[in-house]
Formats: sequence, C-alpha cells, structure tokens
Amino acid sequence: MEIVRGLNLVKVPIPDNPLGYLNCYVVAGKDGCLMVDTGWNTNEALTALREGLQELGLSVTDIATIVLTHVHPDHFGLAGKLKQLSPHTKILAHHWESALIDSRYIKFTDLQRKMGVLLRRHGVPDVEVPGLETASMPAIEFVTITMPDETLYGGEVLDTGLFNLEVIWTPGHSPGHICLYEPQNRLLLAGDHILPKITSNVSYHVQSGDNPLGDYLYALQKLQKLSVTKVLPAHEHVFDDLPGRIAEIMTHHDNRKEEMRGFIREKPLVAYEIASRVSWDIQGITWEQLPTYMQRVAVCETIAHLEYMRWEGTVTRIDENALYLYRAV
Ligand SMILES: [Zn+2]
Repeated sequence: MEIVRGLNLVKVPIPDNPLGYLNCYVVAGKDGCLMVDTGWNTNEALTALREGLQELGLSVTDIATIVLTHVHPDHFGLAGKLKQLSPHTKILAHHWESALIDSRYIKFTDLQRKMGVLLRRHGVPDVEVPGLETASMPAIEFVTITMPDETLYGGEVLDTGLFNLEVIWTPGHSPGHICLYEPQNRLLLAGDHILPKITSNVSYHVQSGDNPLGDYLYALQKLQKLSVTKVLPAHEHVFDDLPGRIAEIMTHHDNRKEEMRGFIREKPLVAYEIASRVSWDIQGITWEQLPTYMQRVAVCETIAHLEYMRWEGTVTRIDENALYLYRAV
C-alpha cells in the first residue's frame, strides 16, 4: 500500500497472534531501499515480505538498510534471515536494543532467573513463577539472531537520497525504541510507541530501567508538538490525529493509576494481587483463565504503574518478608 510516492506499507502476517500483522515500511532510496522493521521469522512472513517487495519492483537484495524500531521478535525476527540472503544490507538499531540481543536471545537463562526473582518479590505465587518466568520464551524460535551493523543514539538523520528520516529515541515499550520522522511529508513512523487502537505495552522488568512508564510518557509528550499529517504505526492501521491519540493514551494511564491506587488505600498489597483486580480489557475472561503470558504482561504493567507512582510520590513501597507491598500515600 502506497502511503506517499516512494514510501510503501507491506503487511507481514504474525501467525497465531492477536496483532495479526506487522506493518513493514519500505522507503525508496537512490542506492537501494530502507526497510523499517521486518516481521517474525516464519516462511509465511518471508513470503509476504518478498511478494510485497516484488510488487514494488524490488527484491531482498535491494534492501540497503534495515532500521529496527526495537528488537521484539515481531520487528526483529526476520532481520537475520534477510541479512543471510542479502549480506550487504546494513542493520541499524538503537544502542540499548543492540545491548539486549545477547541476553534475550542467546544467553537467556540468566535473564529468566532474574525475572523469576523479580516476579516472586512482587508476590507471584511460587507455583506460578516457572510459567510466568519463561512466558516470553516461545517467541525466541521466531528470531534469527543478527547483531546490528551500526547503533543509533537518537538525533541522527538517515538519508536514503530520496527521503530523510530523523531518529527520535522513544523509550518505554522497550528501552531503545525509536520512531522515525519524515519532515517532507510530515510522517511519523511510530513503531509500537503509538498504536491507533490498543495501548502499547509498557512493562517493568529486569531490563526496563527503574521507571519505564515515566520514560514512555515523557517520550509521548516529546512527540505532542511534532507537525505530523500521518502516523504510520507498526501494527493496526495508519491514522491522522497524533495529538488526539497521545491525549487518549495519557488519560488511559492516568485512569489506570487511579484504579490501582484505589486498591491500596486501606491496606498495602503486592503487585500480583493488584494486577488480579484491575479491570483489564479481557472480554469476560477471569484472571484465573487468563493465559500465562497475559498474566505476566498484566503483572509487569502493574509494577510499571506502581513504580511510576512511587516516583511521583503518590505510592510507597514496603519491603516485608522478601515481598514488595505498595500503599497509597
Ligand atoms: Zn510489535
């Protein structure tokens, strides 16, 4: 699908996943194109990507550069495969994302162990820890590992000869998440930072930093004044109203914070308990019926909100019998 002349969207399927598709953007260049995000490493995804390129008169070896908004499997999974098929392609990612690859995809047992310790401290019952600790592991098989050729810090301008793309560091969903701004047509390639319908997952975990929701909300504010006519997200659909969507997301997090604070006015609770009471948008499914992976996301999102409020000074944390209990101030 053509967004503007020379900048196209290729839908790459993510099998068995509610997101459905990864939006891969192909930006024309003088010496080959620039691709933003790749999709998971499955045959189905690679075929879709190849067909999408073919419709633009391109093949895999015409990709001069791949820019990764972040290294989650649905964005990064196929990058290694593409690099094998086209060794001259340069892969770019933020330095924080580069730093995550080894611990996430290669020597991941240490990360799992640390995640287990973290989940226990936040009140996840012992019997549930092993399931929750390894909940993100199945995604690993959809990744062909490769290391970026160059790392980004934010502020760089990537020049394809036909388009300029400014790198904007937007941590929160992942520590080194980046967006790309195209000033000529005023396009924002938003990755998972801003999606039109679902709110981007912002979780507290071993590698998230101390206040990922704070990072995220600051990075949202940073984009509020940007002159944008179209937002090109990594999932769902292209949309227009950036400031409107940012305001909605901010309200969503404010409401969620208040809801959580409401549970801990009378007595302190662990994050696991708080998470089980939140009115998640899970269509009639009870907390107990929620798949392990979703429970883990819920717990880690809850911690992110609680830690944000701790930073604001509206919630305190008590360390008791190797558990963290939160209480409203
Ligand atoms: Zn994604």
